[in-house]
Amino acid sequence: MKVALIGVGQAGGKVTERLARFDADMGFGAVRGALAVNSAKPDLRSLDVVDTQLIGADRVNGHGVGGDNELGTEVMQSDIQQVLGALDGRVTSSAEAIFVVAGLGGGTGSGGAPVLVHHLQQVYDVPVYALGVLPGRNEGALYQANAGRSLKTLAREADSTLLIDNDAWHEQGESVEGAFKTINQKIARRVGLLFASGEAVEGVGESVVDSSEVINTLRSGGIATLGYASEVASDDSAENVRTAMSVSRQALLTGTSLPDATTADSALLVIAGDPEKIPRKGVEKSRRWLEDETGSMQVRGGDFPLESDRLGALVLLGGAERSQRIEEFMDRAREAQREQDSEETDHIEQFTDDRLENLF
Ligand code: GDP
Repeated sequence: MKVALIGVGQAGGKVTERLARFDADMGFGAVRGALAVNSAKPDLRSLDVVDTQLIGADRVNGHGVGGDNELGTEVMQSDIQQVLGALDGRVTSSAEAIFVVAGLGGGTGSGGAPVLVHHLQQVYDVPVYALGVLPGRNEGALYQANAGRSLKTLAREADSTLLIDNDAWHEQGESVEGAFKTINQKIARRVGLLFASGEAVEGVGESVVDSSEVINTLRSGGIATLGYASEVASDDSAENVRTAMSVSRQALLTGTSLPDATTADSALLVIAGDPEKIPRKGVEKSRRWLEDETGSMQVRGGDFPLESDRLGALVLLGGAERSQRIEEFMDRAREAQREQDSEETDHIEQFTDDRLENLF
């Protein structure tokens, strides 16, 4: 699937850069254009393979919006024409979809991404998707509340929102910085493979996955998730049938971007590896298993021929919002919002009896 990427905010820019770099290093050619948009100048300066656009300079002078996602929304709204102008020529006619990438817990990405998606929907005919990073459980209440509001609006505006939970793809005991690095690398490899899977040219055959299958899987709308797992392939075909099943199970049950999200409206199973070693019987068996497990009648499947000694499974779910993980997250976000609201009220009450006059 040929895509144009727009990263908003710090996490959005970093993940976009990683994705563009992975695609270029692998020679896939699926990423047709990449732009990073931010209200913080230093964050843009640290990027080197993507084009950049500063927003909100008249309001925050390149210093960012802090954790204020309402301000993030405002600066994106005010400067939307500049951002759309910067995209001209980058979203070429070859792009089959646009992905807006953002960390949902911060300010610029959290508030800005939904506005940008809204405007892109009016300008471009191709689907506009969001790739959103959810804050981990141990990130503060502000992050949870910001992400809740951002997710709600993104889900309304985007054709589908692919969620990556910051708790999902890192090792236990890593530092926050170390964890971000690991997560970003995994996002780049896994989402990068998904983009590239529809672009495979070698060994083209009936079973090779096509971009339209990715788009049709995401047509369910709502929340999407992506899982991945791989194991070394064998010279024995019966063994490869077992491996295909095993990696497909792991991709959905333990390798997913949103833990516990296993029911969905639609799914796509891509088996990647040396075409000689991809076992037809194993792929069929895995696809049927995925049908049972997700409760979806629409499970698509296909191969991604790759030069590799491993067999990998990518599982994309569409319409996965009824998962327990999303419920838990939205509860946390609502709770955080309530706490913030009551703190604000307390502050105001504290001052109602004051004899001083307000400034304006
Ligand atoms: P913004 O620049 O105001 O949009 O804010 P950030 O992009 O820093 O968003 C903060 C959220 O993104 C928090 O939930 C962070 O945990 C997360 N985040 C920040 N940097 C990264 C990163 O490099 N990788 C990942 N996966 N998450 C990040």
